[in-house]
Amino acid sequence: MQALHIIEKKRDGHRLSEEELAFIVWEYHRGNLPDYQMAAFLMSLFIRGFDDKELIAYTRALVNSGKILDWGASEKKIVDKHSSGGVGDNTTLVVAPLVAASGLCMPKMAGRGLGHTGGTLDKLESIPGFSAGLTIEALQEQVAEIGLAVVSQTDELTPADGKIYALRDVTATVDSTPLIAASIMSKKIAGGAPSLVLDVKAGRGAFMKTTEAAQHLGQNMVKLGESLGRKVAVVISNMDQPLGHSIGNALEVREAAEVLQGKGAEDLKNLSLTLASHLLVSAGKAEDMKKACLLLDQKLSSGAAYEKFIQLIEHQGGDTRFLESFPSCFYLGSVYADQDGYLQELDALLLGKAASFLGAGRFKKDDLVDPHAGLMLHAKVGDRVKKGEALVSLYSQGRNPAPENVEKLLEQAVKLSENPVKTPGLVYHTLKG
Ligand code: URA
Repeated sequence: MQALHIIEKKRDGHRLSEEELAFIVWEYHRGNLPDYQMAAFLMSLFIRGFDDKELIAYTRALVNSGKILDWGASEKKIVDKHSSGGVGDNTTLVVAPLVAASGLCMPKMAGRGLGHTGGTLDKLESIPGFSAGLTIEALQEQVAEIGLAVVSQTDELTPADGKIYALRDVTATVDSTPLIAASIMSKKIAGGAPSLVLDVKAGRGAFMKTTEAAQHLGQNMVKLGESLGRKVAVVISNMDQPLGHSIGNALEVREAAEVLQGKGAEDLKNLSLTLASHLLVSAGKAEDMKKACLLLDQKLSSGAAYEKFIQLIEHQGGDTRFLESFPSCFYLGSVYADQDGYLQELDALLLGKAASFLGAGRFKKDDLVDPHAGLMLHAKVGDRVKKGEALVSLYSQGRNPAPENVEKLLEQAVKLSENPVKTPGLVYHTLKG
């Protein structure tokens, strides 16, 4: 088999066989195929796309480049979630303790943020002492003991995806629905969980700007789940405005802790309950979504879910005293309402960028993040506000005053209306395999 022939075939719009796709992925993973040939292959695929059979074969080839976690007798209890990335999206920090408190297990492999979206690892690493660098053995031990762990992605699972993703990043081939679907699902399949919930964001602050694009990605992932033996629920959720009231690592950890104590942001709580309910139903812990939601609500009000969060932090070396203090010393100032009215727009993309400029996010992979930087949103779209009321507060460590571009971004991101504004919906669609 020859790589050149496979590239030509895809370039000319022909179907590739399972063997050809397995060959190209494996040879690239093993270092036998140069970057320039893989780049040409990815670009031809970007332009020509995959049919269903090719998508499944390519995803399987990514999975086969590494290990698949074996959970033995406890496999039925293992669940996993994925978010396609948003602003202020800290649902993992709420969902993982919730499902663990309900008798399921969530071994979460998480990533770091890039651009305007945050990453779960950055959020948890804002807790002094927290370490996500667990070996697979340590991950499995911790999950057996307390039902959850959040660790960094390991090269032992889907190593080909890591290498191909890095190449896609510099060859303008990230933005391809089949490539994204295969990349996400290969990692989830290698993680060994039979039940998955995927939160695909749609809107200004998401990679998928329209619900149609989000649905297309969701359908691809459901298809992959069906073919590769996983139960998949896809929730298409609104990312026009940020989720919750916090953007930034330490701020989002504290906000998740509040929700786990039955307080805090309603939208974050509701979306987390929806995602967790899908997992409970899929893993057989609840008959239907309504019963699942009731059970999860009890885990919030009894303190059991918050206790799981504390256990997670303690087991991974974090100092839980961090949850009790608020970083008022990093306060830079606020944006105030210049009229009475209703909040009409909170542009998630612009707010995510503003938070990144304050230090909460990265523009390049090796940028350092400021754990305390970010924004607090005191009102959400549809809320009534009074002239002089604080709408957004800014936090940063050592960048005082806020950079000029942050002020400009905030000016464009926050819009008021004299007329009442409808509170936007949170979930657009649900797809299931
Ligand atoms: N997230 C992934 O894991 N892979 C992609 O290709 C895009 C987003």
